[in-house]
Amino acid sequence: MGHALDIEKLNEAFEKQKPAEIIAWAAKEFCPKLAMTSSFGPESGVLLHLVSSVDPQIPVLFLETGYHFPETLEYKKTLVEMLGLQNVVDLRADPKKRQALVDKHAGKPYEQDPDQCCHINKVEPLDAALNHYDAWMTGIRRHQTDARKTIRILELYEGDRTKISPLANWTSRDTWWYLKEHKIPQHPLYEKGYLSIGCWPCTRPIQAGDDERAGRWAGRSKKECGIHLFQEVKRPEDKDKTPAPDISSDI
Ligand code: SF4
Repeated sequence: MGHALDIEKLNEAFEKQKPAEIIAWAAKEFCPKLAMTSSFGPESGVLLHLVSSVDPQIPVLFLETGYHFPETLEYKKTLVEMLGLQNVVDLRADPKKRQALVDKHAGKPYEQDPDQCCHINKVEPLDAALNHYDAWMTGIRRHQTDARKTIRILELYEGDRTKISPLANWTSRDTWWYLKEHKIPQHPLYEKGYLSIGCWPCTRPIQAGDDERAGRWAGRSKKECGIHLFQEVKRPEDKDKTPAPDISSDI
């Protein structure tokens, strides 16, 4: 912890650099205290491929909520083998807390209290895991949603955690071409209209013209899973501190 980084200067430089260069910088700066998160969703192959090219030992943190599509778990296996990922870590909720929540809501906490369901299954395990690292990489992009429009490649969070989003200025077209160029298979549900994939109870396919994440918590006001809302971004211009955008679909 405690790297004295010139975030402003680095961000200015990173905007003009390729993601592979940014990841190489992060590896040099933070390894072995560097991890990445992945949801093994439709775009996850891009960051996983880039990171594995730099160092396949970098830990890949996966939130195993117990509610993933079987296709996601199958896709995860495929990418792990194909990319030679050597350090994939499944993060799980505290079993007692999870069971209590399931019992309280008749087996369907995602219907009756999705915020608490996300908190116990995602926020808490990720927060605990990140205590072991100084920095972590995610695949979030500015084009994904309005809430993500302002993300920067490098963000410093409370507790001196550094988040790196090497694909922040990429479009969905960039990621599509990258997967094609590197012959990385697509998530099996992508062809069925699922552009952003999380847990099965909270994910639907989307229609033409919809926002990329419109299929997440469809029909509810909930748009984000709450991961990192427990943390705050530290920006010099944001004296009031800005809550960090959610990263649920990209871990
Ligand atoms: S996305 Fe849905 S099922 Fe998954 S943790 Fe959140 S509320 Fe629960």
